[in-house]
Amino acid sequence: MLFRAVIFSLILFFFAGCIYEAEPMPQVMADRAGAVMSQQARAKPANSAGIGKSFPKGWLPPAKLEHKWTAIIIHHSGTATGNAAIFDKWHREDNHWEGVGYDFVIGNGTDSGEGKVEVTFRWRYQMAGAHCGGTKGNWANKYAVGICLVGDFDEGRPSRRQAQSLVRLVRFLQGRYGIATSRIYGHNTTPGARVTNCPGMNFSIAKFRAMLGN
Ligand SMILES: [Zn+2]
Repeated sequence: MLFRAVIFSLILFFFAGCIYEAEPMPQVMADRAGAVMSQQARAKPANSAGIGKSFPKGWLPPAKLEHKWTAIIIHHSGTATGNAAIFDKWHREDNHWEGVGYDFVIGNGTDSGEGKVEVTFRWRYQMAGAHCGGTKGNWANKYAVGICLVGDFDEGRPSRRQAQSLVRLVRFLQGRYGIATSRIYGHNTTPGARVTNCPGMNFSIAKFRAMLGN
């Protein structure tokens, strides 16, 4: 029922593109030590929004490294195909970053499964991302979780399974870190971010927020 609503909403989406050349500064902050959460905060259960209590174990960060994330930023890849390994290669070789800039990549059935959530090294080591440049103090990369959906949402739209996975992942993150829906952004609506059309003109973050509720 919920997923049906999700899909329906996403079909109606208006989205804008994550061109790799225009992607953010390669700033990688080594702030792991200062970002460790307290035991209490970490113990917070991941679910008040009806997703059930089960989620992939790989989504759980290492307890000793866990960071206090305060926002979520959604991207599209701006490409028809791809997966975390491919973006990792591009971001290393073309952008000279440490590797893929996102924390999570959600496949579209081309180079990884449709709706498959890939967890990158950024998340596993709770590192700052390299997915949203230009913000004050680099807050977006330091404190926002970066999720990339494979696809070009100027042309197409997220698939049903991608949408389902995005909702599940976002709700997991909201539940674990107490992130309000108002702190979920599209790359192009992130306060202070450089101008971009990512995540595409067919993805409306306003509609996605409305779908999540409060
Ligand atoms: Zn982006």
